[in-house]
Amino acid sequence: MNSIRSIRGMHDILPAETPLWQWLERRLADIFATYDFHEIRVPMLEQAEVFMRAIGQATDVVEKEMYAFEDRNGDQLSLRPEGTAGVVRAAIQHGLLQTPGLKVWYHGPMFRHERPQKGRQRQFHQFGAEVFGLEQAAADAELIAMVERIWRELGLAGKVRLEINSLGDRADRVRYRQQLVDFLEPYVDRLDADSQRRLATNPLRIFDSKHPETQAIMADAPRLADSLGEEARVHFDQVCRLLDQLGIEYRINPGLVRGLDYYCRTVFEWITDDLGAQGTVCAGGRYDELVAMQGGKDTPGIGFALGVERVLTLLADAGMEREQVPQVYLVSQVDIAEALKLAERLRQECPGLRVGMSLSGGSFKAQFKRADRCGAALALVLGEVELAAGEVQVKRLRSQSADQDSVPVEELSGYLAQLLAAEGEH
Ligand code: ATP
Ligand code: MG
Repeated sequence: MNSIRSIRGMHDILPAETPLWQWLERRLADIFATYDFHEIRVPMLEQAEVFMRAIGQATDVVEKEMYAFEDRNGDQLSLRPEGTAGVVRAAIQHGLLQTPGLKVWYHGPMFRHERPQKGRQRQFHQFGAEVFGLEQAAADAELIAMVERIWRELGLAGKVRLEINSLGDRADRVRYRQQLVDFLEPYVDRLDADSQRRLATNPLRIFDSKHPETQAIMADAPRLADSLGEEARVHFDQVCRLLDQLGIEYRINPGLVRGLDYYCRTVFEWITDDLGAQGTVCAGGRYDELVAMQGGKDTPGIGFALGVERVLTLLADAGMEREQVPQVYLVSQVDIAEALKLAERLRQECPGLRVGMSLSGGSFKAQFKRADRCGAALALVLGEVELAAGEVQVKRLRSQSADQDSVPVEELSGYLAQLLAAEGEH
């Protein structure tokens, strides 16, 4: 029988890869904590309505990319294509928005039925953060500063650049939308098919088109920035001023519109030139109307999502590697129960010590080969002689010297701690 394969665009993350994932996950969790953000975990499956209301019907995500289906009860469900809508649903449901200033982060897989290609998968992973109840520009600035810190701590600061824009408030966008449609009418025949359709449904999204002729037309389109109302303009100026004062570099990109409907005011993206066409590694913005759209009390919000696979590709390209190897490897020539007991004792006495061992027996020579291959720094040798004497032989596997120490089992944990610390391993 031929073997079954994974779904196209949904990738296994293999043991050789997970150490770098775990490293990144820990670093990000630590950074979020230093900004007083708290983790929230919401289901991957929601009522489809959660996303349709939030993201908007006339967006790529809802029109073409959602994994939506009817379950056995006849409920319309969807795998989450992004994190914000579910977080907002949960925050409303559990009354988390009653005190302003809720700061949460999440991470996990997202699902979009897109054409798989480099940097684009059908199951991919995001880290995201959301702030609720704060309309002040300081919330925008702190969130952006946090992402800037992420790049610095990951060593990617020189590889990504920040672009920002303001989408104004609803009235500003309504006014602007008409201007844009008026401007585009004479060019309808030259727009790509998607953009022609969007002219009626969601004309702002035409800025997102990758079609060269459409892009050329859009270069001369009126700018939303020139239609901003007083309040949105003041807010945006404040955000820019705070970024200046924090020493954060950015470029105002008047064509930056973002693909989801819920955004207003500040929107931003970090882009890299190192990943080809899929160059956005992190994106977000304000969504002051989203909570109300989802049935909650009027509550402003702002957030971002970072594409984990794209960030990992940048890290790998920069030569970043992580691996997990055992620190010690036990080779034994005694009753296996005695070997297991010694390994258990070590794990008990040396918290965190990574202990590998040979469970399948074999000659000392064969076991040493395994010890060597697994990358452990030390081999612990337990034969009948050592067992009778209450000792273990410790052999360094990564140094030229053939030194071997006999260590009483009672002293083993202290001995290992010292040795591994000296080698910078523990
Ligand atoms: P794009 O323009 O690349 O389609 P998007 O606007 O749809 O991006 P967002 O919804 O803002 O993306 O998601 C935030 C981030 O998540 C993106 O910047 C990207 O890094 C990542 N991302 C989005 N879709 C995918 C995907 N299909 N595969 C891998 N990463 C993705
Ligand atoms: Mg997309």
